[in-house]
Amino acid sequence: MSTIQEKKPASMYDNVMQQYYKVAERINLNENIKKILAITNNEIIIHFPVKMDNGDVKIFTGYRVQHNNALGPYKGGLRYHPSIDVSDAKALAMWMTWKTSLAGLPFGGAKGGIQLDPRDHSLAELERITRRFTFALGENIGPEQDIPAPDVNTNEQTMAWILDTYMSTKSSSQRSHNQHVVTGKPVGAGGLEGRDRATGFGVYLSIKLLLAEQGKSLKGKRFIVQGFGNVGQWVSHFMIQEGAKLLAVQDAHASLINENGIDVDQLIEHTKPRKGSIQGFIGAEEIEPKRFFGLDCDILIPAALGNQINQQNAYDIKANIIAEGANGPITGEGENIILEKGITIIPDILCNSGGVIGSYFEWLQNRNGELWQLEEVMRKIEKKFSENFSKVAKAVEEHQTDWRTASYILAISRIETAYRQRGIFP
Ligand code: GLU
Repeated sequence: MSTIQEKKPASMYDNVMQQYYKVAERINLNENIKKILAITNNEIIIHFPVKMDNGDVKIFTGYRVQHNNALGPYKGGLRYHPSIDVSDAKALAMWMTWKTSLAGLPFGGAKGGIQLDPRDHSLAELERITRRFTFALGENIGPEQDIPAPDVNTNEQTMAWILDTYMSTKSSSQRSHNQHVVTGKPVGAGGLEGRDRATGFGVYLSIKLLLAEQGKSLKGKRFIVQGFGNVGQWVSHFMIQEGAKLLAVQDAHASLINENGIDVDQLIEHTKPRKGSIQGFIGAEEIEPKRFFGLDCDILIPAALGNQINQQNAYDIKANIIAEGANGPITGEGENIILEKGITIIPDILCNSGGVIGSYFEWLQNRNGELWQLEEVMRKIEKKFSENFSKVAKAVEEHQTDWRTASYILAISRIETAYRQRGIFP
């Protein structure tokens, strides 16, 4: 049985709209701009056939939702998950618009994916599915139009297939101008050194910076992580380097605890031949999944799917800090309970923005025909992320509000300014 909820009690779309209207009202957002930001510009739904290994043809459904491009080309990940639908893609696209705006990047927001469980498919099938979907998307994506990146269950390999398929449709003289059609590519295919760890690094930085504001450090802090994919693994890696302890970890298959701290490197090795699953790891004990969020710890990092923390489990939470590695992991009702308890939430659009900041550097690197070194990249991500964090910290003080509301105020205000300056065509 899956421990991560497959069926969502409240939709992520309801959640993001509620967050949006709350802040729009608070900042007295111009009525016309409010109407524009409430809708998604384009919602692309594609049904497409792919030949399976056994010769049968199967029909898949893929999505790409482009919320807003006032600040630059649409930007955001592609996820492969049985639960992705147009409503989730709309919510996730909207979160990307706020995220890129808050991060001060020249991008808008988009998100998409394909409704499938990657564990049901061979690598060869996943390649054909990805290439066929990319071909069907055609010019809806492009280096100056809409730039996909990895998300849940997609990775640098997925991006390499998209890149190759997209470039194959161009004449040979045009190919090199199109390398930045996706970010999160393998380094050998024009990817950025360090993009793989950028999201987890940002999540770790956000926790470190918040603790520093309170005059504390990560040393000896106990943290728990839900989801042990790219974000969960890298954030754990950086946290333990600073002396924090990984008390427990949960994925769709198991919930594990070790009071002395879980060995992160060993756990990563364990997941490799098991399609990413933590199940069966001998360096920790298995516990009942429903006990997970209530474990006695300092920091909780949801790094899996949306709507995981809700009114059913929010009361149990003992952590003082929740760092949202995932997008939309807390429902509106869950959030009210958590804030009432005095827990600080570092919101997704700030907390996990290290990923898209890394993507921006990859896009720039390709656009300028440059190759950057790992050290330089990490320094640049740290600088940009820390500056953004400070702006939000200042807004929290100035508006006497929580971190999500402060982040939304900054994100929406930047887009409002762009619309005010440019006006609305025609
Ligand atoms: N999927 C990541 C996110 O949700 C990265 C997006 C990107 O780099 O474009 O932020």
